[in-house]
Amino acid sequence: MENKTKKPWIVHLIKLKFPRIVDDDIIMVWGDTVYKSKHIDFPNHLVAHEQVHIKQQKGSKLYGLIWLIGYIFSNTFRLNKELEAYRIQYRISGDPKVLHKIATDLSSDIYGNLVSFDEAVKLIKQ
Ligand SMILES: [Zn+2]
Repeated sequence: MENKTKKPWIVHLIKLKFPRIVDDDIIMVWGDTVYKSKHIDFPNHLVAHEQVHIKQQKGSKLYGLIWLIGYIFSNTFRLNKELEAYRIQYRISGDPKVLHKIATDLSSDIYGNLVSFDEAVKLIKQ
């Protein structure tokens, strides 16, 4: 897993779908690389979340691009990929505060309001 701070050009594809996204505040994975601003904390449970996305993209920039297109255009694809990552993240943290934070994020406009907060909690705990 490589770490970089400057976002790659594909961030502009994500912004087409989510125009309110601010570069500095998002962590994104493309292929085998995590793109993250320095000011964002990166605890183990969040590292584990991003490692799931690297696995989902088979550590490949080409496969990652295809993954990203599915992620942008399909709510089901995006929800399934994030759920897989958030379930691992919650298990690794074992922290109810983390569950509250990630369920808040998963049910927000960050991901296109895919589920309610209560549904997010239920799905992450499965
Ligand atoms: Zn994610």
